[in-house]
Amino acid sequence: MSLRLFNTYSREIEEFRPIADDGRTVKMYTCGPTVYSYAHIGNFRAYLFEDLLQRHLEARGYGVERVMNITDVDDKTIRGCQAAGVPLGDFTEPFKQGFFEDLGTLRIKRAQAFPEATDPRQIAAMIEMIRTLVSRGLAYQADDNSVYFRIKNFPAYGHLAHFNLDELQSTGRVKNDEYEKESIGDFALWKAWDEADGAVHWESPWGRGRPGWHIECSAMATQLLGDQLDIHCGGVDNIFPHHEAEIAQTEGCTGKQFVRYWLHCAHLMVDGQKMSKSLGNFHTLRDVLAKGYSGREVRYALLRVHYRAPLNFTFEGMQEARQSLTRIDDWIERLRARSADADGENGERSASSTREQADNDQFSRAFDDDLNISAALAVVFENIRETNRALDDGILAPAGARSWLEWWEKIDSVLAVTSDAAGIPADIATLVEARAQARLAKEWRKSDELRDQLAALGWGVRDSKEGQKLTRRAGA
Ligand code: AMP
Ligand code: ZN
Repeated sequence: MSLRLFNTYSREIEEFRPIADDGRTVKMYTCGPTVYSYAHIGNFRAYLFEDLLQRHLEARGYGVERVMNITDVDDKTIRGCQAAGVPLGDFTEPFKQGFFEDLGTLRIKRAQAFPEATDPRQIAAMIEMIRTLVSRGLAYQADDNSVYFRIKNFPAYGHLAHFNLDELQSTGRVKNDEYEKESIGDFALWKAWDEADGAVHWESPWGRGRPGWHIECSAMATQLLGDQLDIHCGGVDNIFPHHEAEIAQTEGCTGKQFVRYWLHCAHLMVDGQKMSKSLGNFHTLRDVLAKGYSGREVRYALLRVHYRAPLNFTFEGMQEARQSLTRIDDWIERLRARSADADGENGERSASSTREQADNDQFSRAFDDDLNISAALAVVFENIRETNRALDDGILAPAGARSWLEWWEKIDSVLAVTSDAAGIPADIATLVEARAQARLAKEWRKSDELRDQLAALGWGVRDSKEGQKLTRRAGA
């Protein structure tokens, strides 16, 4: 079965086919953070859904080229640097660093490139695009010296957001980067300098000023990925005006379809409202970690609901995530112990590898269905229940345990939630395996020596019905 994704542009589930002739390369652009403060976990819901999509594409054999921009100049960053009384770059730097740290904590794969809007090459690319739009009659300099996109000359404007422009009252021009459809109008591409901008400005054919937020993404996406992308993602709040504007600007310049598949995630909510800076109802990742939760627990809590369904954030939800992960951790530990055990290699029923293979397909097929995480997790927990039962009954052979561990490795290349603490270093695993062999050969003295060696390295080992049980001592 092929991968199918919900495309916001058509409002339909569509079969995914990349543009590239090789049929394998996928170009993906994901709107990144505005670095005027630390990202909140609502923002990370969007980045986690994009990570899950990338990981699934990779598990299906695609090579993903992903770009995520860093918005380090806009209305909010300028306001922030002025309030702090420092240059723009000094103000945004710690938030950029914080963002990369947070990506690591949440195990979000790095994009190939994180272009910054203030990079002179990007500013030059933005100016070039605006120049093209002006030359085609799609943009004009207004009496306030700013340059605006002329939406009436781009008939497709409103298609992504499914607006009928004829029914909406145009309010003329809007200089703000973010606005509602009620104030639909020509949006700013280049904002003429005014006193509120202080030292933040660049020279352009239209005088001193700075780019609008929307042109930043059009320029950075096409600079780094080319005129046409396979996938463009963001949260639903990006659909209008941001992504609508990106289509108008880019297609206005290239004359080609900009993006094949538009994917948007629903919001992380708090008591029925979008988690957002402006409402003040947000938690940064750092706030949640300070309450004793780990990055992988936050990751799981934000991933476990389908990306198009709103997700209400609560600390009870965090507890549930913790419980689910404990269940997975305990299962992995049991399988590891059983797989290292020499007893029962013969004569006991071994779970067949075709069975795990079939379940791997089942897991991946759930993801093929527009990233159906609920169905995918149901496959995981059903298998955990069954293998735990087989372990309880002593009917899972070490080889069976090993193949389940291999199965999990594939699953976890997408979920990325395995506990680091559960990882057994290779040298320890070798000693455990040697001890299993010694026990199989009834070489009890050797088995005891290996136990002492493990103890000296900080690992306790206990023999049980299910095989050797390892425990890591403090400091090991
Ligand atoms: P911003 O820094 O506001 O441009 O947002 C960065 C990304 O986070 C965008 O893709 C937004 O759509 C997304 N986003 C913002 N708030 C939320 C939320 N509460 N839930 C999910 N995604 C969000
Ligand atoms: Zn963007």
